[in-house]
Amino acid sequence: MTLKARAREKVERAGISNYSFDQDILVMCGVRYTVEACDCGEPDCDGVRLTKHLNAINRNFQ
Ligand SMILES: [Zn+2]
Repeated sequence: MTLKARAREKVERAGISNYSFDQDILVMCGVRYTVEACDCGEPDCDGVRLTKHLNAINRNFQ
C-alpha cells in the first residue's frame, strides 16, 4: 500500500471525509499536512505520520 493510500485510510478512519491531496500533501480543513512513513514500531501504529505543513498557510491573505 502506498503512503498516500495509508494516509487516506487513516483520515477516513478518523471520520473525516472533507480532505484532498495536493500532490503528496494532505489538505484537511484548509490545513496542509506532509505525509511521512512512521517506523516507531508502536503496536497501534498505522505506519503513517501526518505533520502539519507550516510553510505557506495563507500567508498571502494576512
Ligand atoms: Zn509510528
